[in-house]
Amino acid sequence: MKDLSRYQRQIILPEIGEEGQKRISESHVAIVGLGALGSVSANLLARAGVGKLRLIDRDFLDLNNLQRQVLFDEEDVRENLPKAVAAERKLSKINSEIKIEAIPADLNLETVDELLKEVQLVVDGTDNFETRFLINDFSLRGRIPWIYGGAVGTRGLAYVILPGEGPCLRCLFEEAPKPGEFETCDVTGILAPVSHWIASFQAMETIKILAGRKESADRRLWRIDLWKNEWKALEVSAFVKELCSGCKMRDYPYLTRERGSRTVTLCGRNAVQILQNLKGTINFQNLARKLSPSGAVKYNDYLLKASISPYEITVFPNGRAIIQGTQDEAEAKSVYAKYIGG
Ligand SMILES: [Zn+2]
Repeated sequence: MKDLSRYQRQIILPEIGEEGQKRISESHVAIVGLGALGSVSANLLARAGVGKLRLIDRDFLDLNNLQRQVLFDEEDVRENLPKAVAAERKLSKINSEIKIEAIPADLNLETVDELLKEVQLVVDGTDNFETRFLINDFSLRGRIPWIYGGAVGTRGLAYVILPGEGPCLRCLFEEAPKPGEFETCDVTGILAPVSHWIASFQAMETIKILAGRKESADRRLWRIDLWKNEWKALEVSAFVKELCSGCKMRDYPYLTRERGSRTVTLCGRNAVQILQNLKGTINFQNLARKLSPSGAVKYNDYLLKASISPYEITVFPNGRAIIQGTQDEAEAKSVYAKYIGG
């Protein structure tokens, strides 16, 4: 039998006990996104002894990540490591007794089945609603829990989704915010304690569920503002939408071409095109206001152009975008998520 003595401080808690720790040590969790949220929850869950951790992230490290992304240091940035790889290196030094897989890849409708295979729970560390709705549909279809989290500026949101036992993310938000109407850390900024708080909540609820104490999981939607010290927990159990196709009809549009975005590399142009299935159109005035601190922005009725070094981003009213400055589809999606949102 495995020696669990390193988890003694956890085991002496009656809420966990030996039985709970054994369950935690036998569980398999995926963390999608290893940034402000994911690096914190991965740190906590690796130390707590989650048996298998799968770390999925499409991004590379940047110096500005160190202000909040707790697993990384300047040497990782100098080495230009993918976040998933740098996280795996650090975590395996922290806990060599668990299995950690680094997957530096984009989670999308083509990769989701493979990348989330055999996982028991998914922790959201993403920065965009498209991936969250994909995880939501995957979770509803396979009946596996996932923990939503979001943090931007001084504010954060968090919520535990237990399929079949209360509203899913689509019940609560219905539609992803339109590109340009959704704040992102890259445009608005973020204070690290906010993402740490949200990620700690996510890790806590994960530990409860893995330990076999699902009944103790918090079923409320948390909304916090740490600048104003406002903490709100909204009762949402009654919000299972009669019309939520995921919860009621077992329909999962984000796992099909119906809702997922598509990317196409534009050969010879050092550019990637991103196609969105958007309802309605983007408000260029709002988007320009948000992007102007990051670079030069101009727009007319037909398109908006933003020069955010090293990229030139062209956005059309229906959400389609051309990201110039890369041929890498995952990188382009990442730029889109950071600056346009959605
Ligand atoms: Zn639902």
